[in-house]
Amino acid sequence: MSIWALLKAHQIAAYRSKFGISTSRRDFRPPDRYHVKVMRRYKTLLAGAAVSAAALVAAGCKPDASGDSPHSKSSAVQHGRYEVVKSDEEWREQLTPEQYEVTRKKGTERAFTGKYHDHKGQGVYKCVCCGEPLFHSDTKYDSGSGWPSFYKPIDEQHVETEMDRTLGMIRTEALCHKCGAHLGHVFDDGPAPTGLRYCINSASLDFEKKDP
Ligand SMILES: [Zn+2]
Repeated sequence: MSIWALLKAHQIAAYRSKFGISTSRRDFRPPDRYHVKVMRRYKTLLAGAAVSAAALVAAGCKPDASGDSPHSKSSAVQHGRYEVVKSDEEWREQLTPEQYEVTRKKGTERAFTGKYHDHKGQGVYKCVCCGEPLFHSDTKYDSGSGWPSFYKPIDEQHVETEMDRTLGMIRTEALCHKCGAHLGHVFDDGPAPTGLRYCINSASLDFEKKDP
Protein backbone atom coordinates (compact mmCIF):
# COMPACT_ATOMS: atom_id res chain seq x y z
CA MET A 1 0.00 0.00 0.00
CA SER A 2 1.39 3.32 -0.97
CA ILE A 3 1.70 6.20 1.43
CA TRP A 4 -1.12 7.97 -0.47
CA ALA A 5 -3.49 5.05 -0.08
CA LEU A 6 -2.74 4.97 3.66
CA LEU A 7 -3.32 8.69 3.93
CA LYS A 8 -6.62 8.40 2.06
CA ALA A 9 -7.79 5.54 4.29
CA HIS A 10 -6.95 7.63 7.33
CA GLN A 11 -8.92 10.58 5.89
CA ILE A 12 -11.94 8.37 5.22
CA ALA A 13 -11.89 7.06 8.79
CA ALA A 14 -11.59 10.59 10.17
CA TYR A 15 -14.41 11.83 7.95
CA ARG A 16 -16.67 8.97 9.00
CA SER A 17 -16.08 9.43 12.68
CA LYS A 18 -16.45 13.19 12.46
CA PHE A 19 -19.66 13.35 10.44
CA GLY A 20 -21.12 9.92 10.92
CA ILE A 21 -21.51 9.60 7.17
CA SER A 22 -20.59 6.47 5.35
CA THR A 23 -18.65 7.00 2.22
CA SER A 24 -16.77 4.58 0.02
CA ARG A 25 -13.12 4.85 -0.80
CA ARG A 26 -13.89 5.39 -4.44
CA ASP A 27 -16.12 8.48 -4.21
CA PHE A 28 -14.45 9.98 -1.18
CA ARG A 29 -13.68 13.67 -1.34
CA PRO A 30 -12.32 15.54 1.63
CA PRO A 31 -14.96 17.98 2.93
CA ASP A 32 -14.56 21.53 1.70
CA ARG A 33 -14.74 24.45 4.09
CA TYR A 34 -18.38 25.24 3.34
CA HIS A 35 -19.39 21.64 3.99
CA VAL A 36 -17.58 21.64 7.31
CA LYS A 37 -19.34 24.87 8.31
CA VAL A 38 -22.79 23.52 7.41
CA MET A 39 -22.17 20.25 9.22
CA ARG A 40 -20.99 22.10 12.31
CA ARG A 41 -24.11 24.25 12.34
CA TYR A 42 -26.30 21.17 11.82
CA LYS A 43 -24.62 19.39 14.71
CA THR A 44 -25.07 22.42 16.97
CA LEU A 45 -28.76 22.54 16.07
CA LEU A 46 -29.16 18.82 16.79
CA ALA A 47 -27.42 19.19 20.14
CA GLY A 48 -29.68 22.13 21.00
CA ALA A 49 -32.80 20.16 20.09
CA ALA A 50 -31.62 17.22 22.19
CA VAL A 51 -31.08 19.48 25.19
CA SER A 52 -34.56 21.04 24.77
CA ALA A 53 -36.18 17.62 24.45
CA ALA A 54 -34.35 16.41 27.56
CA ALA A 55 -35.52 19.48 29.46
CA LEU A 56 -39.12 18.86 28.35
CA VAL A 57 -38.97 15.24 29.42
CA ALA A 58 -37.42 16.23 32.74
CA ALA A 59 -40.29 18.67 33.27
CA GLY A 60 -42.72 15.79 32.80
CA CYS A 61 -44.05 17.15 29.54
CA LYS A 62 -44.21 15.14 26.34
CA PRO A 63 -42.81 17.11 23.38
CA ASP A 64 -45.69 15.98 21.13
CA ALA A 65 -48.31 17.03 23.67
CA SER A 66 -47.26 20.67 23.66
CA GLY A 67 -49.48 21.52 20.70
CA ASP A 68 -52.44 19.46 21.88
CA SER A 69 -55.39 20.53 23.92
CA PRO A 70 -54.37 21.09 27.53
CA HIS A 71 -57.37 18.92 28.44
CA SER A 72 -56.10 15.84 26.65
CA LYS A 73 -56.10 12.89 28.98
CA SER A 74 -52.43 11.98 28.75
CA SER A 75 -51.27 15.44 29.74
CA ALA A 76 -53.95 15.63 32.40
CA VAL A 77 -52.71 12.46 34.06
CA GLN A 78 -49.14 13.67 33.85
CA HIS A 79 -50.01 16.99 35.40
CA GLY A 80 -51.92 15.30 38.19
CA ARG A 81 -55.33 16.54 37.14
CA TYR A 82 -56.97 13.45 38.55
CA GLU A 83 -57.11 12.70 42.24
CA VAL A 84 -56.72 8.96 41.67
CA VAL A 85 -53.70 8.08 39.53
CA LYS A 86 -52.49 4.52 39.11
CA SER A 87 -50.07 2.78 36.78
CA ASP A 88 -51.27 0.62 33.93
CA GLU A 89 -50.12 -2.41 35.89
CA GLU A 90 -52.13 -1.44 38.96
CA TRP A 91 -55.29 -0.91 36.90
CA ARG A 92 -54.80 -4.30 35.23
CA GLU A 93 -54.55 -5.96 38.64
CA GLN A 94 -57.64 -4.25 39.99
CA LEU A 95 -59.96 -4.59 36.99
CA THR A 96 -61.25 -7.42 34.82
CA PRO A 97 -59.84 -7.38 31.26
CA GLU A 98 -63.10 -5.92 29.94
CA GLN A 99 -63.29 -3.22 32.64
CA TYR A 100 -59.67 -2.31 31.93
CA GLU A 101 -60.20 -2.16 28.16
CA VAL A 102 -63.27 0.08 28.50
CA THR A 103 -62.20 2.42 31.28
CA ARG A 104 -58.47 2.76 30.70
CA LYS A 105 -58.30 2.17 26.91
CA LYS A 106 -61.57 3.87 25.92
CA GLY A 107 -63.14 0.67 24.68
CA THR A 108 -66.84 0.01 24.16
CA GLU A 109 -68.69 -3.11 25.26
CA ARG A 110 -71.04 -4.66 22.72
CA ALA A 111 -74.63 -3.43 22.91
CA PHE A 112 -77.03 -5.49 25.04
CA THR A 113 -74.15 -7.48 26.60
CA GLY A 114 -73.40 -5.38 29.69
CA LYS A 115 -74.82 -6.29 33.09
CA TYR A 116 -76.61 -2.97 33.62
CA HIS A 117 -78.28 -2.11 30.31
CA ASP A 118 -81.55 -3.62 31.51
CA HIS A 119 -80.80 -3.33 35.20
CA LYS A 120 -83.44 -1.98 37.55
CA GLY A 121 -83.32 -1.18 41.23
CA GLN A 122 -82.87 1.75 43.56
CA GLY A 123 -79.31 2.77 44.11
CA VAL A 124 -76.20 4.46 42.88
CA TYR A 125 -73.96 3.58 39.96
CA LYS A 126 -70.35 4.22 40.97
CA CYS A 127 -67.12 4.35 39.00
CA VAL A 128 -65.74 0.81 38.82
CA CYS A 129 -62.19 2.18 39.07
CA CYS A 130 -62.37 4.58 42.01
CA GLY A 131 -65.84 4.21 43.55
CA GLU A 132 -66.96 7.77 42.87
CA PRO A 133 -70.81 8.00 42.72
CA LEU A 134 -71.67 8.87 39.10
CA PHE A 135 -75.36 8.23 38.39
CA HIS A 136 -78.51 7.65 40.42
CA SER A 137 -81.02 5.00 39.39
CA ASP A 138 -83.75 7.68 39.37
CA THR A 139 -82.20 9.20 36.23
CA LYS A 140 -81.77 5.87 34.40
CA TYR A 141 -84.11 5.20 31.51
CA ASP A 142 -84.52 2.70 28.69
CA SER A 143 -83.05 4.29 25.60
CA GLY A 144 -83.24 1.09 23.58
CA SER A 145 -79.56 1.49 22.72
CA GLY A 146 -78.34 -1.57 24.62
CA TRP A 147 -76.23 0.47 27.04
CA PRO A 148 -77.21 1.89 30.44
CA SER A 149 -78.58 5.36 29.77
CA PHE A 150 -79.03 8.27 32.15
CA TYR A 151 -80.32 11.77 31.53
CA LYS A 152 -77.96 13.34 34.04
CA PRO A 153 -75.10 12.54 36.43
CA ILE A 154 -75.58 12.39 40.18
CA ASP A 155 -73.51 15.59 40.31
CA GLU A 156 -72.42 17.65 37.30
CA GLN A 157 -68.92 17.82 38.80
CA HIS A 158 -68.52 14.04 38.96
CA VAL A 159 -68.70 13.40 35.22
CA GLU A 160 -66.51 15.50 32.97
CA THR A 161 -66.77 15.69 29.24
CA GLU A 162 -64.26 16.02 26.43
CA MET A 163 -64.49 16.21 22.68
CA ASP A 164 -63.76 12.86 21.05
CA ARG A 165 -62.76 12.81 17.38
CA THR A 166 -62.04 9.08 17.04
CA LEU A 167 -63.70 6.71 14.54
CA GLY A 168 -64.37 9.57 12.11
CA MET A 169 -67.04 11.11 14.37
CA ILE A 170 -67.20 14.08 16.65
CA ARG A 171 -68.65 12.92 19.93
CA THR A 172 -68.65 14.02 23.54
CA GLU A 173 -66.79 11.60 25.77
CA ALA A 174 -67.85 11.14 29.39
CA LEU A 175 -65.14 10.53 31.99
CA CYS A 176 -64.94 10.07 35.74
CA HIS A 177 -63.64 13.33 37.18
CA LYS A 178 -61.74 11.59 39.94
CA CYS A 179 -59.70 9.00 38.01
CA GLY A 180 -60.22 9.80 34.32
CA ALA A 181 -61.97 6.49 33.60
CA HIS A 182 -63.67 6.42 30.21
CA LEU A 183 -67.38 5.93 30.85
CA GLY A 184 -69.06 6.37 27.48
CA HIS A 185 -70.49 9.27 25.48
CA VAL A 186 -73.09 11.99 25.86
CA PHE A 187 -75.66 12.63 23.13
CA ASP A 188 -78.29 15.32 22.85
CA ASP A 189 -81.22 13.01 22.08
CA GLY A 190 -82.15 12.28 25.70
CA PRO A 191 -85.43 12.86 27.51
CA ALA A 192 -86.57 15.88 29.55
CA PRO A 193 -85.57 17.66 31.63
CA THR A 194 -82.00 17.76 30.27
CA GLY A 195 -82.43 16.41 26.74
CA LEU A 196 -79.16 14.55 27.26
CA ARG A 197 -78.37 10.86 26.99
CA TYR A 198 -75.40 9.65 28.96
CA CYS A 199 -74.70 6.42 27.12
CA ILE A 200 -72.49 4.50 29.57
CA ASN A 201 -70.71 1.16 29.45
CA SER A 202 -71.81 -1.28 32.15
CA ALA A 203 -68.14 -2.23 32.48
CA SER A 204 -67.37 1.27 33.79
CA LEU A 205 -69.97 1.03 36.54
CA ASP A 206 -70.47 -0.66 39.88
CA PHE A 207 -74.01 -0.62 41.24
CA GLU A 208 -74.65 -0.12 44.91
CA LYS A 209 -78.18 -0.86 46.04
CA LYS A 210 -79.80 1.69 48.31
CA ASP A 211 -83.25 1.36 49.80
CA PRO A 212 -85.49 4.29 49.04
ZN1 LIG B 1 -63.28 6.99 38.72
